Amino acid sequence: MSRRLFLSSLVIILITLLLSMLSVNFVFQRQFSDYLTHSTEAAIEQLPERLSSSYLSNGCWDPQALNNIAHTLPLGTEIVLKEPSGKTMLTLANPMESMMHNGSGMGMGMGMGMGMDYSVHEWKTKTLNVNGPQGILAIAVVHYPASARILNPSDASFVSAIYRSLLLAGSLALIIGILLSYWTSRRLVSPLQRLTKAVHRVGEGHLDEQVPISTKDEVGQLATAFNDMADNLKKQEYLRKQFTADIAHELRTPLTSIRSYIEAFQDGVLPADAENLTIINEEIERLVALSSDLKDLNVAEIGALKPNFTQINVEELLDKVIYKLYPLIQEREINLEWEKPKQSIVIQGDEHLLTRLFYNVLHNAYKYTQSKGQISIRIENSTLDVRVRVRDSGMGIPEEDLPFIFERFYRADKSRARQTGGTGIGLALVQQITQLHKGTIEVESNLGQGSEFTVILPKKPEDRSKSPSSEH
Ligand code: ADP
Repeated sequence: MSRRLFLSSLVIILITLLLSMLSVNFVFQRQFSDYLTHSTEAAIEQLPERLSSSYLSNGCWDPQALNNIAHTLPLGTEIVLKEPSGKTMLTLANPMESMMHNGSGMGMGMGMGMGMDYSVHEWKTKTLNVNGPQGILAIAVVHYPASARILNPSDASFVSAIYRSLLLAGSLALIIGILLSYWTSRRLVSPLQRLTKAVHRVGEGHLDEQVPISTKDEVGQLATAFNDMADNLKKQEYLRKQFTADIAHELRTPLTSIRSYIEAFQDGVLPADAENLTIINEEIERLVALSSDLKDLNVAEIGALKPNFTQINVEELLDKVIYKLYPLIQEREINLEWEKPKQSIVIQGDEHLLTRLFYNVLHNAYKYTQSKGQISIRIENSTLDVRVRVRDSGMGIPEEDLPFIFERFYRADKSRARQTGGTGIGLALVQQITQLHKGTIEVESNLGQGSEFTVILPKKPEDRSKSPSSEH
């Protein structure tokens, strides 16, 4: 690609150079030719005066002086000097061959090489009177090239100097262009080569791979996107490993406990009575709950969970959840404060999933609240959304754990959570369901004093997905 870029920019440079040199050459030829024609006409106009002053100063038609005058005229010019009666006196000329003998051949060759046309296509003849103080001294019949293509030595060297500098500037521009296009193509391509190598490395499983970002252009953006992707893959890989380890741990703990009980029964250390069988049953139920939570979470995470949105009366839904949990709450003598809304609040949502969401939040409030504690449920209604606040006077969550409680298997107090039968999946599921409803969940907690979970749900989730500005 670097070669292709370099070659294409080289072709562009060459075409540009060629076109600009051709146009300079064209303009120069036209201007210079016009200039020569004008100066030839001017020289011919001045000829009678010069001839007459040569005659008057020499007292006769001095051949040497006349020759000198002839040589200042355009190449190829011929002058026939006649007496007033018409008799030819002498003929003067500035022959073309003279240029070959006075060292300007090189200039001419150069000019020809650059496209100057020196052949004379058109001639002019003028008859001029050479006047003296007492009337006409002579008649000059001048035959000269009309379009002044033939250069005298000084014109030829001027033209060759112009073409030399044009060539020099062109070559310089070409060299600079080659260097610049080589540098730019390398500069453009080398980050892409680095990226290709890095992509291969990531493909081989080296997820630590990062590429330096030196620009903000498209290549820089590509490098940033690559780095983010590699970072993400690394995080995913870490989470996958962590997840597998967590599941293994979560499965092993109840299974080990069940095995120890069965071994104890077999060895006759413990009686297989109702009490011990209840413990085994609890462990089995834990495993069943874990696998069902895992299934739900997995379905929610891969996006296969298709919420079935219907009109939900939030108060009725919360009533049902509270009803399910009420025996447990009562058993612990927890004071439940349920501040019902003054008017019914209806939102669009999936009944089954929302029941699961509030069950998990309320169940947590119950699980982590000591007996004779306090749980309060409050609903705040607004035009766009509804906020359900569940506050408890339980053990609270340490500040350092707060950012992680919505992660799978995260439990702030592991030993306590095991006692309470927690798997660390409940809140992960709560978050997934909230997101499915385009809502958010917030938590405030003080260790030892209690926690407050606020679930914010839009009344119409599909409106929320259309207008990102209304996201929380
Ligand atoms: P678990 O099944 O362990 O309750 P969750 O995902 O529901 O898992 O909660 C994660 C962790 O967050 C819990 O283990 C607990 O440490 C903490 N937590 C959740 N809700 C509360 C609460 N109301 N009071 C105190 N801690 C809580």
